[in-house]
Amino acid sequence: MQAIQIDQAGGTEVLRYREVPDPIPGPGMVRVKVHAAGVNHRDIWVRKGTVGELPYPHIPGSDAAGEIDALGQGVDGLEAGLRVVINPGVFCGKCLACLAGDHPACAAYRLVEGTYAQYVVVPQSNVVPMPTGLTFAEAASIGVPFVTAEAAWQAARVLPGQTVVVWGASGGLGTAAVQLGKLRGARVIAVTRRTAKVEALRKLNSDEVVVWDPARPPDAEIKDLTAGRGADVVLDSLGKASFGLSLAMVHRGGQVITVGATTGSQVEVNLADIFRRRIGVIGAFMGSAAILPRILPLFARGQLMPVIDHVYPLEQADQAHEQLERGDVVGKVVLEV
Ligand SMILES: [Zn+2]
Repeated sequence: MQAIQIDQAGGTEVLRYREVPDPIPGPGMVRVKVHAAGVNHRDIWVRKGTVGELPYPHIPGSDAAGEIDALGQGVDGLEAGLRVVINPGVFCGKCLACLAGDHPACAAYRLVEGTYAQYVVVPQSNVVPMPTGLTFAEAASIGVPFVTAEAAWQAARVLPGQTVVVWGASGGLGTAAVQLGKLRGARVIAVTRRTAKVEALRKLNSDEVVVWDPARPPDAEIKDLTAGRGADVVLDSLGKASFGLSLAMVHRGGQVITVGATTGSQVEVNLADIFRRRIGVIGAFMGSAAILPRILPLFARGQLMPVIDHVYPLEQADQAHEQLERGDVVGKVVLEV
C-alpha cells in the first residue's frame, strides 16, 4: 500500500510517501481501507518526536474514515464493506479506569497510529459505523477534536447559561468546542488572532468573537462582556501565550481547562492567585470511548457540523502539516487517500 512514513523526527521533509507492506489484521482486529485521514496537531508533535519514543519507521495519523476491508480471527458483528469512523483511543478495557469508562486514565491508553495510509489495522472496538450524509473527509475530521472538546466540557460540568471562552477558536479543536459549548446551552466567547476568521466563527453561532491583539490582551474584553464578573470556564489549547490570561479571565471559583500547548508548555503561575480565587485547573486529554458513537448522529441531524478548511491528497501530507503549523486554518485539514 501507499503510506506516509517517517524514519526519524524532524521537519515536514521527514514525511515520506512510499510503498509499504499491507498490514494484516490479527485476532480481534479489523483492517480499514482509509478514504480520508484527519490531520491533528498531535501528528505534528509525533513528527517532531516530542510525544515520547516511537518505533521507526512510523506511519502517523489517528483519525480516519473508510470502509472495513478485512477481519481478523474472532471478529464478530462487523462485515467487509461497512463504512466506519475510527474511534482514536486504544485502552486495556480491564482496569478500574476502563471499567469506569474513564478510558484516558487507563495506564495503557494510547492513540491509534497509522491512518496516513491506504490501510490501517485497529481493534474491532475502535470502529464506529459512519452516519449517512457525511463525506469520508467530513467523517475523518471529527474524532480527536470533538472527543477532546466534549470531554473537556464534561470535566468542567458546563451548565446552560454559563459563559465559556475558547482560545484558538478557529482551529479544529476550537470549532468543535464552540459548537459543543453551544449545544450545552453555554454562552460561547470565541477568541481568535485573525480578523479574517471572525465571520467563520459567527457562522458557528459563537455568541461573541474577540480578536486577540497581543498589544491588547483579551482578559479586559472578557470582563467587559461579562459585566465585570469574568468567565465561568476557559478552554486553553495554546499554553504559554494564553494560560496566564486564562487565569485572569475566570471569576472566583471558575475553571481553566488546559487541553493543549501549541505555543509552548512551560508557564509561570502565581499559586496564590489560584488558591485565593479558588480556581480549578483541569487537564484534559481525549475522552471516553462512548463519546464518538454518542455524538456522531448529531452530525447526521445537523446539530453539529464538520468544519474543513482544506483537503490534500495523501502524498501532500507535508503541505497539510505546514498549513496547520502556520495556524492558517478555519477548522480542519484532511488528507484524502
Ligand atoms: Zn484500562
